[in-house]
Formats: sequence, structure tokens, C-alpha cells
Amino acid sequence: MTVREQRLDDEAPVALAIDMIRCDGHGICAWLFPDRITLDRWGFPLVDRSPVAHEDRNRAMRAVRACPRAALIANTVPAARTGATVQP
Ligand code: SF4
Repeated sequence: MTVREQRLDDEAPVALAIDMIRCDGHGICAWLFPDRITLDRWGFPLVDRSPVAHEDRNRAMRAVRACPRAALIANTVPAARTGATVQP
């Protein structure tokens, strides 16, 4: 199972990362989520690795699913890093 196929809690905060070994520089990710992903001069993605805002989570996950090389990864972020409070 690739990291992309891991089931993520729908509410869990995520941060994006790129596996540059897999990435082919298609640029689809930057087209789908330009707020957080830009391309360098060679067309390879530069990703803002800070936690994605909750309201942007669906767009981030859409970009992850669209990556043809499974190179764009969404990692769950501990609540402590996002500043969110965890309800018991
Ligand atoms: S869509 Fe995937 S392969 Fe294409 S630039 Fe983005 S991370 Fe790389």
C-alpha cells in the first residue's frame, strides 16, 4: 500500500509533501492547488509543508488523488502542530 492509499481520517489535519524520486513534474498538483503548490523553473513542484487549513483540505486531497505518480503525499499532522484543541 502506498502512502497515498492510506485511509486518512476525514477530519485529521494534513500537511503535504512530495516524493521527488517519484515526481515527474507533470504539474497537475500545482494546477489543482495553486495556493500551496507552485512550480519551479523546471516544472517541478514546490510545496508549502505547513498544515493545510481545514477549509482547504478537500482541495489538497483532490490534488493528492490526481497525482499520476503517487508522488504527492498527505501526512496527518498531530493536533499539537496545528494549534487545534482535541476534544476528549
Ligand atoms: S502531480 Fe505528482 S508527478 Fe506531477 S508535479 Fe505534482 S507531485 Fe509531481
